[in-house]
Amino acid sequence: MSVKEHQVDLVVLGTGIAGQTVATTAAEAGLSVALLEKTDARGGSSVMSGGYFAFSGTQEQTAHGEHDDRELFLKDLLDVGDHLNRTDLLEVFLDRQDETYRWLKDHGVEFREISISSGQSAKRSHLSEIKDVIAGLHCDFENAGGLTYMEHRAHTLVRGPRSRVTGVVAASPQGDVRFSSRGGVVLATGGFSRGTDMLRAFAPYQLNAIPYGGRGNTGDGLRMAWKLGAGMADMSFVSGTYGSHPETGEEFHELLTAYYQGAIIVNRAGRRFTDESQSYKTLGRDVLEQPEGLGFEIFDATVRAQSEPGVPLKDIDALEDIGHVLCAQTLEELARAAGIDADALVKTVAEYNAAIGEDTDEFGRTSLCNGVGDPAPIVQAPFYAYPAKSLMTTTYCGLTVTPDAEVTDVDGDIIDGLFGVGEVIGGFHGAAYMTGSSLAKGAVFGHAVGQRIATELTDETEGTE
Ligand SMILES: Cc1cc2nc3c(=O)[nH]c(=O)nc-3n(C[C@H](O)[C@H](O)[C@H](O)COP(=O)(O)OP(=O)(O)OC[C@H]3O[C@@H](n4cnc5c(N)ncnc54)[C@H](O)[C@@H]3O)c2cc1C
Repeated sequence: MSVKEHQVDLVVLGTGIAGQTVATTAAEAGLSVALLEKTDARGGSSVMSGGYFAFSGTQEQTAHGEHDDRELFLKDLLDVGDHLNRTDLLEVFLDRQDETYRWLKDHGVEFREISISSGQSAKRSHLSEIKDVIAGLHCDFENAGGLTYMEHRAHTLVRGPRSRVTGVVAASPQGDVRFSSRGGVVLATGGFSRGTDMLRAFAPYQLNAIPYGGRGNTGDGLRMAWKLGAGMADMSFVSGTYGSHPETGEEFHELLTAYYQGAIIVNRAGRRFTDESQSYKTLGRDVLEQPEGLGFEIFDATVRAQSEPGVPLKDIDALEDIGHVLCAQTLEELARAAGIDADALVKTVAEYNAAIGEDTDEFGRTSLCNGVGDPAPIVQAPFYAYPAKSLMTTTYCGLTVTPDAEVTDVDGDIIDGLFGVGEVIGGFHGAAYMTGSSLAKGAVFGHAVGQRIATELTDETEGTE
């Protein structure tokens, strides 16, 4: 049987924020673009996400009197990444974030609130309706003539003269389809949070976390690029995100970060085990070392009153409605209901309360979140417990790339014609991730690479040097 073949300017693999941004940018610049998606649904992990984009110096921040700028953003990214992130990637991201933020807004994206979250020392998380963002960009893509191929799982990169990547072969319900592209291939296939074999190889302890993320995110892009000799970065920092009930479903995004509003986290023995103000990725690592991989967010009525219905990470009301938050008038009753050692919990809370303002916290906690906000004693009945595990949402490691998103091999040489954007790349986050930095990174580098390839191909066509 002959293999069906399509000839386009650019092939993009994956319909999450990264791939969709590349595809829409390139199509609107006049390129013929084939956007391939492995599954029968668009959006990957992106549409399952909280929808927060991290940007600094925005209109929303100004309107709320929030001081934030490039320098502070860079410092936070480096601090949360343990200074193991690549500064050349961060610099390009920071240089281009404003343009991308404006481009998203020009494409109808609205940011309905800003808040502070994991790894941030300013209110930098810009909340979007992410499903609408992806749907809107996709609509713009199709209006610009872009073609989407659902249930097309790319499996083999094709190389042409001088080893340049010139296309890809994808498995579809009708058999293999070949896409040839003069602009090369963009890998935007996401991470491998659903890739059991890859997790076993790089982060076996994460197999104890709750599997999550886009159903198609099994590391296909990494495999295809590794076959061509691509390098890897940040592979040892894979971590789940702490804060999801053991029975977390996929109907909505269940993750509670009451610890950034004043909750402590204890294990079944009623003991704290970490500084709760750290990145929820770090907490995700710490909780896996506890019995059953379980930690309980313990808080009082003061924290409960800060619930924000409809806002991801803060909607205690919704979690109470589905029976995932336990409530009692005393800490002893709460402990009994949750199956925590009651005497130990009472002692832990008393010690925590007594250390506030004294600089004597057992785990060095001095703030609510990443150096910002003052911890408050847990004293106001009723008391609450939210049992939570680490959720294997994302992997944030992978291909080595240049600041122009060209994939490089193990020696640092560019693999001509092959690009990587979004969660499939490594080097950007270093040891841990800041809330909002993945959607923003996918959009920023996606927009840049779409523009760049369009300019190069247009210059080539017009014979410009
Ligand atoms: C619950 C949750 C909450 C999150 N909250 C936030 C947040 O608020 N802010 C933030 O910045 N980040 C957040 N993240 C992380 C963020 O959503 C992801 O890192 C980001 O969306 C990745 O975007 P992407 O485009 O690189 O990949 P994805 O959105 O995962 O898209 C990759 C796509 O590629 C497809 N694909 C895979 N292999 C192939 C193949 N062989 N051929 C064709 N297609 C293929 C997949 O099916 C998928 O559709 C969250 C993640 C989760 C799971």
